Amino acid sequence: MQIVAANLKTNHTRNTVQSYLGAVESYIDKNEIAARSVVFPPMSALCQSREKITIGAQNAYAAENGSFTGEIGTEQLEEFAIKTLLIGHSERRHIFGENLELVKRKFDFFSLLDYEIFFCVGEPIEIKEAGFEVVMTYIEKQLDGIDLGYSRLVLAYEPVWAIGTGKTATTADITEVHNAIKEIADKPLLYGGSVKVENAAEIMSLPNVDGVLVGTTSWLSERYCQLLDAANGINK
Ligand code: PEP
Repeated sequence: MQIVAANLKTNHTRNTVQSYLGAVESYIDKNEIAARSVVFPPMSALCQSREKITIGAQNAYAAENGSFTGEIGTEQLEEFAIKTLLIGHSERRHIFGENLELVKRKFDFFSLLDYEIFFCVGEPIEIKEAGFEVVMTYIEKQLDGIDLGYSRLVLAYEPVWAIGTGKTATTADITEVHNAIKEIADKPLLYGGSVKVENAAEIMSLPNVDGVLVGTTSWLSERYCQLLDAANGINK
């Protein structure tokens, strides 16, 4: 079953997330969607998962609670029974300066607590331009020290140059990197980076692509539903 994950980033409010989830839920029911739906709303709109929609957090600090201004820990996640977490998103790494050590610390903390972890890796443009081997060395470094045997690990390959830019990686690029990552880690592997309604089915049909992690296109529930629909027809 393909995973279609929506990263709402800093968009939507508590109210609009509720209507978004309602619209997605009824679409899933009416259209017998078989893909797995996972939605990462902004922090202020965290809520319980619905029967057919897993709610995850875009970020959390590696603590139960404490003096970590601006962050949330497991105490706040547990209020909504949230056990799914995005770690290593490129915006966390590049805008907020989360380095390899902090990302690993988060992974270690939340994996010990049995959280499902969507762990993102991906290279910036200058690495991409240096060629495939350099790309894989970069990604291997991002995975260094991460327990790739962890049972609740979902990986996402998200080239930084493709995120929010409208420049989707080519199917050849995705195939090359996904094949190589699968050799390192036999885990569900999503592609993320300017996935659109028009290219979602083609990307999800590729071998070693187990779904998509989507920002911009997922922000409107109608478009997200079209992505679920694209996943529905894929049997791998
Ligand atoms: C993302 O932020 O995870 C992402 C893939 O964004 P976009 O779809 O907008 O490129």
